[in-house]
Amino acid sequence: MSITYLKNNVLQCMKFARQQNRAGRKLWTNVLEIPFVEYAVTTRCTLRCKKCSNLIPEFKSKTDISLERAKREISRFLEYVDYVYRFKIHGGEPFLYPWLPEFLNWLSSSDKIGEIRISTNGTVFPGDLLLESMKKTKVIVFVSGYPKTIAPKRKEILQLLVDHKVRIRDLDDQVWYDTGGCSEREMSDSELQKMIRDCAMANSKALYNDYFYLCSRCANGERLGYFTEMSKVRLSGDTENVREQLKKMYELKTCTGCRHCDSVNQNGIPIPPAEQYQEKI
Ligand code: SF4
Ligand code: SF4
Repeated sequence: MSITYLKNNVLQCMKFARQQNRAGRKLWTNVLEIPFVEYAVTTRCTLRCKKCSNLIPEFKSKTDISLERAKREISRFLEYVDYVYRFKIHGGEPFLYPWLPEFLNWLSSSDKIGEIRISTNGTVFPGDLLLESMKKTKVIVFVSGYPKTIAPKRKEILQLLVDHKVRIRDLDDQVWYDTGGCSEREMSDSELQKMIRDCAMANSKALYNDYFYLCSRCANGERLGYFTEMSKVRLSGDTENVREQLKKMYELKTCTGCRHCDSVNQNGIPIPPAEQYQEKI
């Protein structure tokens, strides 16, 4: 096992296992646990943030993934791995996803998923069914900390979640970094390696269309046609082979999407969160 795999996967899993009372779990040499993975359910959003790291304003056609497809893709992924500590639902804005309550109920019933995170931008009031499904112990709702001018009902939405005993994290101290446009950057292999090593999103990983990506921006950059991502894993075929490839995603030294990005580096210069496009793009 390489030091990089140990740092990016094993130590993360050990930390989350303690938090989720799984520290005494049985481990075997060929275990494959996933610390964190994201899944986008929609490209619809109520906001049009200029520096959206997921590139959502650039999607011309706004679509929801069908519930059947979401279940099929995630079931397939779960067949290849032993456990997922943090499964994050994002978008666009997940509260706009019409099947979110059923989707949450379905995810919550999986014994391979420890915690389900939903990130909402704090502009959409959840309905009764959704509130009920979010009460589940595995679910935590992360509410972005956008200013009142952008998310004027944010405090009311937070209060509604609290009143319904939904577990929340109020991201009111959220810091944004500019990941830049999607043109290709000139950089050496060693600069690229350093960038991947230092990027806060490189360990978030993302699922899309039966592929496992380094991050959601890589998945969306490819969806938008900016590049063909060479460093992704097709979730299909021989189990051992796919598991080996998934493990290698935690020690990547190269990634096409990262060559088209400025990275999320906490030593970088913060920008104001969620600044909006006024004009059509
Ligand atoms: S709220 Fe802003 S950052 Fe979040 S998905 Fe929508 S456009 Fe992107
Ligand atoms: S540097 Fe790579 S991992 Fe980081 S945000 Fe950009 S594309 Fe994602």
